[in-house]
Amino acid sequence: MKVITAKRDIEIDSSFAEEILERSGENVFLCYQCRKCAAGCPSRMFMDKTVAELMRYVQLGMVDEAMKGNTVWCCLSCQTCSARCPRGIDIAHVVDTIRIIVQEKGIKADTKHTRLLNLVWMQMLRYMGRMYEIGMIGILNVLTGRPFNDMKLGIRMMRKGKIKLVPTIKKPFETMKMFSRAKRLRK
Ligand code: SF4
Ligand code: SF4
Repeated sequence: MKVITAKRDIEIDSSFAEEILERSGENVFLCYQCRKCAAGCPSRMFMDKTVAELMRYVQLGMVDEAMKGNTVWCCLSCQTCSARCPRGIDIAHVVDTIRIIVQEKGIKADTKHTRLLNLVWMQMLRYMGRMYEIGMIGILNVLTGRPFNDMKLGIRMMRKGKIKLVPTIKKPFETMKMFSRAKRLRK
């Protein structure tokens, strides 16, 4: 694809953006970098690049930059970005698609803990149907060798009723069925 600027024409490789379009139906070239998505992202502080930057990397065919950072692993799939995008791009779906491609290609994330976070997060959703914060923090702390990390903060949050000691599990088999169905559809 040729990009015309004031000074010269630049050739960019749009094959990555085309692959994302084919797999997700989302056209990243609609993005005009207003950054509304990044402004509302609850995981932004943990990401080494924002979702708006991720969209730009994909537009410019900067595949390594898009796939090697921790952005796709820190995404919580909360859909805030998709709801805010004035161009109607389902950005969360784009992020999911990049995450799948990264896994298929066996690319290692720069920071192993963010990938671990994603794995624990997904397994918790799969078996419990919703997030169980204390469980997730406990598992992550043990797996990363810091069992007492943020313990004081956790106790304060529990006292204020922000997180619960005992999880609420509703219809656990429903999400397990959804995960199994998604796996079958991918084959
Ligand atoms: S909100 Fe949409 S148009 Fe704006 S930067 Fe994000 S993806 Fe691009
Ligand atoms: S879906 Fe992911 S990238 Fe989008 S706002 Fe939520 S955490 Fe951020």
